[in-house]
Amino acid sequence: MATLKAVRGTRDLLPPETALWNRIEATARAVFARYNFGEIRTPIFEDTSLFARGVGEETDIVSKEMYTWEDRARAQSEKTQMLTLRPENTAGVVRAYIEHQLGETGQLQKIYYIGPQFRRERPQKGRYRQFSQIGAEVLGPTSAGSESPLRDAEVLEMLATLLDELGIKGWVLELNSVGSAADRARYNDTLRAALVPVVGQMCVDCQRRAVTNPLRVLDCKVPADQPIIEKLPVIADSLDEASKAHFDAVLSSLDAAGVPYTRNHRLVRGLDYYTRTTFEFTHSGLGAQNALLGGGRYDGLSEAIGGPKAPGIGFAMGEDRLVLTLQALEAVAQTKADAFIAPLGENMNPAALALARELRRDGLSVDLGDGSFRLKKSFETADKTARRIVILGEDELQSGILTVKDFASGTQSKVPRGELVAFLKG
Ligand code: AMP
Repeated sequence: MATLKAVRGTRDLLPPETALWNRIEATARAVFARYNFGEIRTPIFEDTSLFARGVGEETDIVSKEMYTWEDRARAQSEKTQMLTLRPENTAGVVRAYIEHQLGETGQLQKIYYIGPQFRRERPQKGRYRQFSQIGAEVLGPTSAGSESPLRDAEVLEMLATLLDELGIKGWVLELNSVGSAADRARYNDTLRAALVPVVGQMCVDCQRRAVTNPLRVLDCKVPADQPIIEKLPVIADSLDEASKAHFDAVLSSLDAAGVPYTRNHRLVRGLDYYTRTTFEFTHSGLGAQNALLGGGRYDGLSEAIGGPKAPGIGFAMGEDRLVLTLQALEAVAQTKADAFIAPLGENMNPAALALARELRRDGLSVDLGDGSFRLKKSFETADKTARRIVILGEDELQSGILTVKDFASGTQSKVPRGELVAFLKG
């Protein structure tokens, strides 16, 4: 019988790597708390139409990457419906905002999430079919100031802080404005016209996009198309005065806060709901899949899925890619237990468990060996998993003086039991 393996595009996360995942999540939660964001946990599957309407039928995600199935009615009171594993979390957050009438509070909602997302993409390094995103959204009624460019700048400044605190050195913030729906429609017309004389020399995907959704031509990665794309008109020239002023205000707040950025006229993002500010943070350590995170404003999303007007801005970071970047930067500290307790002989095992309990209750991380192993073997095991070994034999138990060896320095010390906690914490 063939051995079973994790499904293509999914993987097991094992220790010690999971310690890094936990550290990233703890840092994110701490930073979100400082900016007064609260956590939301939405279901992992939703009605398919949420994504069709919220993310957009035309997008790669909805047109070919979703895990969708027919959920058959099990009782007369139920109806058969199409369900989808969430490919992203913004649509779910906005659905919850509408369902729980969070707009009625009149306040800005500042919400974050951490959790798995699912897309049937071609797996490669940094791209998986189950991956984890850490994201946040700021949305609310216009009266709460949800359209203010200061919200955009604050979210971007928070991201710069978070990446710095995670130890991700060398990130680049790329920024653009895709304007209002009307600006985009105007730009699409401009692009469509500009593409007519050149599209014949472009890839088949671009030939299709030039007709259906010219904006998507800017996403093309085919090398031969790049010189043509570089010469196309830029969206900045199609923005109306209000969209221009909004973007300028975002930039001047970032300048004041000292957050560095570069403008990228081609950054239009793969999701249809974006309006005005769009952004990506990239890192060269990631290779082809170089986006650490992406986001932007979505002033019409709530209405697109049947809710009240609720402008907002948000982002999603690929947690898998944060891990890869930190590993590439070798910013990953080895985590070892504070001590390994080695009982000398099986009869010392009960006393060793009692000692381990004492130390663990005092907050130390402790590995417990087994007196049935020879001391040499205990030393070898301890050296791999802990910073020090504490030897507990008959003599030590009687005298209350324990032998502790520190592996890094090689020094061996005699430590009275009453001082052991302080010594190991030192
Ligand atoms: P998106 O929701 O497409 O804007 O993606 C936001 C971020 O999620 C990206 O910048 C990536 O870091 C991450 N991401 C998206 N798709 C994947 C995937 N298939 N595997 C791993 N990370 C992903």
